[in-house]
Amino acid sequence: MERIKKIKKSHIIAAILIFSAILAGILFSRRPEHERITYNQFIQAVEEGRIEKVYLDNSEQILGEYKSGETFITDNPRTENFKEFLLVQGIIVDEVKEKIQGEQIFSTIVTLSIFGVLIFAVNRNVSKQKQGKAGKSIFNAILPENVNVNFSNIAGNEEAKESIQELVDFIKNPEKYAKYGARLPRGVILYGSPGTGKTLMAKAVAGESGVPFIAVSGSDFVQVYVGVGASRIRELFKKARSYGKCVIFIDEIDALGKKRDGGVDGGGNDERDQTLNALLSEMSGFQDNEGIVVIAATNRLDTLDEALLRPGRFDRHIEIQLPDIKSRLKILELHSRNKPLDKGVNLEKVAQQTVYFSGAKLENLLNEAAILAAKRSSGSIQAQDIDKAFYTVIAGAEKKDRSTISEQDRRVTAYHEAGHALITKLTAPENRVSRITIIPSTKGAGGFSMNIPPDRMYHKKKDMENSIRIALAGRASEELVFGEANVTTGAANDLEKATDTLLNMIRRFGMNSRSGLLNYDVLYNNGFRQVQDDIIEECRTHMDELYQEVKELLQKNRRVLGAIAESLLTHETLEEKDLDLIIQAFAKAG
Ligand code: ADP
Ligand code: ZN
Repeated sequence: MERIKKIKKSHIIAAILIFSAILAGILFSRRPEHERITYNQFIQAVEEGRIEKVYLDNSEQILGEYKSGETFITDNPRTENFKEFLLVQGIIVDEVKEKIQGEQIFSTIVTLSIFGVLIFAVNRNVSKQKQGKAGKSIFNAILPENVNVNFSNIAGNEEAKESIQELVDFIKNPEKYAKYGARLPRGVILYGSPGTGKTLMAKAVAGESGVPFIAVSGSDFVQVYVGVGASRIRELFKKARSYGKCVIFIDEIDALGKKRDGGVDGGGNDERDQTLNALLSEMSGFQDNEGIVVIAATNRLDTLDEALLRPGRFDRHIEIQLPDIKSRLKILELHSRNKPLDKGVNLEKVAQQTVYFSGAKLENLLNEAAILAAKRSSGSIQAQDIDKAFYTVIAGAEKKDRSTISEQDRRVTAYHEAGHALITKLTAPENRVSRITIIPSTKGAGGFSMNIPPDRMYHKKKDMENSIRIALAGRASEELVFGEANVTTGAANDLEKATDTLLNMIRRFGMNSRSGLLNYDVLYNNGFRQVQDDIIEECRTHMDELYQEVKELLQKNRRVLGAIAESLLTHETLEEKDLDLIIQAFAKAG
């Protein structure tokens, strides 16, 4: 019933939309098609002085004109000082209200379209499946000469840039790889917090390779009518093939590739499955030397349907991290290049103050500051403008936003990660700590990574115990420094890992004194049911022992631990050599 109602309603809406579209079409038929650009592209064009005129009204989209005479459409920020901002930049602002006065038919059409848009908006709320920028059906490719973005426009994110570099080479010379029979990456997933530059990165791949860039959003494919999504996917790839080589970017891939764990959706969603299958079959239909690459973006990798992640599909996963202090400085420098910064502005200080800011937020900060400076006609952007803008940006942030993480949480994270790192160095120096950071990733609060040669992954008892010690060290450090009542949930994954390892040691590998060489599973299967309690008892005792050891070790090295944590609080990210330096300094001091 629900579904029928929905469809009927959509019919009416569709009819209204088509009707107004036809009318509008007749009226506008002599107008050229407008280029659709993002707000960021718009701002860039403003900064480069390429904009002549903007038609301003209160709708979602605004129409504008380049100096070259071409027209474009972009999102309307609808902020109070937008008009002023434009005027200060020397752009003609034409308030549409005045323009249409007296033009009867025109205003009728406008009313009609607003009416249509309104109903459409209401409907969008009703059918929750549509999220974000639904309703855009045209796939507009940005041609190579207009892409205008390459790796030099991305500051920081060096690791991600490096791993994506390969893709550029592949798009440029697919034959080279085909000659060696190499199976090429077809799909890449970029994952990470919003505003970290995933779209930018995808665009840069197109820019570096000199091929067209087609950007769509997963929600563009989620429609009320079954089958529309799938046919749009086919349309998209047809368009891509017409260019030969190209980069397809699918933002918010989760809209069509979320895990199907039943329940939540009331037992799956036909429409989405069809769309997803269409996408997968288009991707497996690529010839290996075609030079089409699909790059998708998501905020969280773990919510995606596994079908998407299998080999031959989106099998490359690249994390795009929030910038640490060094990267923030680079991003700030990059985005202030075309802005008149006062000499009194210390970008290093700004980088220090903008913990957990994404690239987009940093860009926004400078932009707000520029608007404030323009408002004052002060000639340059001063430190006070940035300070003011800082509070605007922070206030506009969502509650759960990372940039509002408290100082106390940062300290806990720093000591937690320092604990892992120090215990690694003390108990298993042959393992390499490649990086520690307190910048949150999609996987959790901090980050700690260790390189262990996979061929000898904890096969020795000693190594397995060390891996447990290392895992426990985060919690142990929290407890030692902040007290037992203040330990956090941050150790959840560590405890899971430690328990898993220990359980295997006891159950399967005969690596504990009490059960000896008996295999618990065999005992259990032969009817010795009490072994369950034995295992838990055994695990607990052994885990407690290891935990006490770790705590003592940390206690003994309390000052080094503090030094690592403090250094993390200042620099946010430490490489192995930084860590070694701190430890050595204390070793010398005795
Ligand atoms: P995402 O797709 O991850 O949400 P975007 O690529 O849309 O993020 O980023 C929005 C804007 O933020 C970019 O257009 C750029 O101006 C700025 N930005 C984000 N990350 C960076 C970065 N690493 N270097 C330079 N600018 C960045
Ligand atoms: Zn941990």
